[in-house]
Amino acid sequence: MKQNSLFVFTALLIAGAIWLYGFYFATPKPPHHLPAGATSPNGRRVEKSDAEWKSMLTRSQYTITRERGTEWPNSSELTHEHRPGAYSCVCCRNPLFSSATKFDSRTGWPSFYAPIVPNAVYSESDGYRTEIRCSVCDAHLGHVFNDGPEPTGLRYCMNGVAMVFTATSR
Ligand SMILES: [Zn+2]
Repeated sequence: MKQNSLFVFTALLIAGAIWLYGFYFATPKPPHHLPAGATSPNGRRVEKSDAEWKSMLTRSQYTITRERGTEWPNSSELTHEHRPGAYSCVCCRNPLFSSATKFDSRTGWPSFYAPIVPNAVYSESDGYRTEIRCSVCDAHLGHVFNDGPEPTGLRYCMNGVAMVFTATSR
């Protein structure tokens, strides 16, 4: 009897572990959607499967934009990029920020006080912070805080890995 219940316990433990594994790692993530009322520039949308994103992005680009990761401070050269130009989404090339609203926040992350157009990004609460996502492909870009400079008082704290910079040609 004692051996029997040990067997049942072990079997349940293994079944539970398999279920948990499937739940956390093997279940395809549902696609993220624009929140109700949000729009994107020209209504453009790019939706790809997790496998497609994985195949076209580098490991760090994928971890940050599709799994809400955060790069190490001062790890991106875009933090200290001061040339005039535009910052676009690394996943879908949606223009996100202009160098005109970039400021030195001394945090180690590229920081802006406003997006290039109001609907270039959208915000979503992740429970304790306000997350910023690309409105075209839902890429996680960073967070927004209320301690930015005038005129908005906002600080868009972005991951450099999530963006590509294009200098304005003169
Ligand atoms: Zn995007």
